[in-house]
Amino acid sequence: MDRIVRMITTDGSLMASAIESSDLVYTAQKLHGLSKTACAALGRLLTGASLMGAMLKEAGASLTVKVDGGGPLGNLLALADSKGNVRGYVDHPEVELPVRPDGKLDVGGAVGKDGRLAVIRDFGTGEPYAGQVELVSGEIAEDLTNYYAASQQTPTVCALGVLVGKEDGLALLAGGMLIQALPGADEAALDRLEANIAHLDSVTTMLAKGLSPEDMCRIALEGFQVEVLDTAPVHYVCNCSKDRFAGILLTLPPQELREMPLDPEGRLETVCQYCSRKYYFTREELLDLADRAEKNRKEFKISS
Ligand SMILES: [Zn+2]
Repeated sequence: MDRIVRMITTDGSLMASAIESSDLVYTAQKLHGLSKTACAALGRLLTGASLMGAMLKEAGASLTVKVDGGGPLGNLLALADSKGNVRGYVDHPEVELPVRPDGKLDVGGAVGKDGRLAVIRDFGTGEPYAGQVELVSGEIAEDLTNYYAASQQTPTVCALGVLVGKEDGLALLAGGMLIQALPGADEAALDRLEANIAHLDSVTTMLAKGLSPEDMCRIALEGFQVEVLDTAPVHYVCNCSKDRFAGILLTLPPQELREMPLDPEGRLETVCQYCSRKYYFTREELLDLADRAEKNRKEFKISS
């Protein structure tokens, strides 16, 4: 089962979190029909977003990471809540590229690096905080590291990994780590961290050895006294509902709702882009929504 663990060094210099996200990446692959490369790309983004989401302290807060690199995968998007539960999508999940000369999946080539990575933090106050940086490589982990350095001025180490089966292309292992210097960190602590990181195996290698997220944190923070802050399971979660789709339809012009083309069964099919769940609206429901949309518009006109 996937989980996140968060640790702090007792000298208050570093915070580390690690995740195993194998199940949630596998779920994403099944929901979206991700190719190997799309699975590695979206899997890394979901894993990173989960780690970042779990750092939001406010309950009910959420975080969106959007990557628009101009590559053949199109846009990638991941959304996380403050517990680290995530959902996401990629525009072109079927896109596959030849593996790189070193045998690795060409995530950077598929994502592209001609664009931006944007992070939006929403604390539920109606005023989200947004920041964005130019992409460095499209490899995701490097881009998130750069985001923290450039827009947050926080020295950060980010490692993300997704291992897919060579034959069947299915997600086998996924995980990640995010280590940040806290304001009190001194040079010696950062040097020690850097030395630890230099010897660190890749995330998927550590997971393949049977290491837990807690083990990974302890290895990265070797030589420091550490304290576990919390540990919790994480999942791929979509909280969509028919009501939510009705809310989206309400923003359309009433006439468009009344004339919406229906399928042979006489329904409008809507599909959630995060979980592929389908919701159907009958002509009667659409007419009702059109009436409501019209009423909303009138009220808006009167009040504005
Ligand atoms: Zn959904």
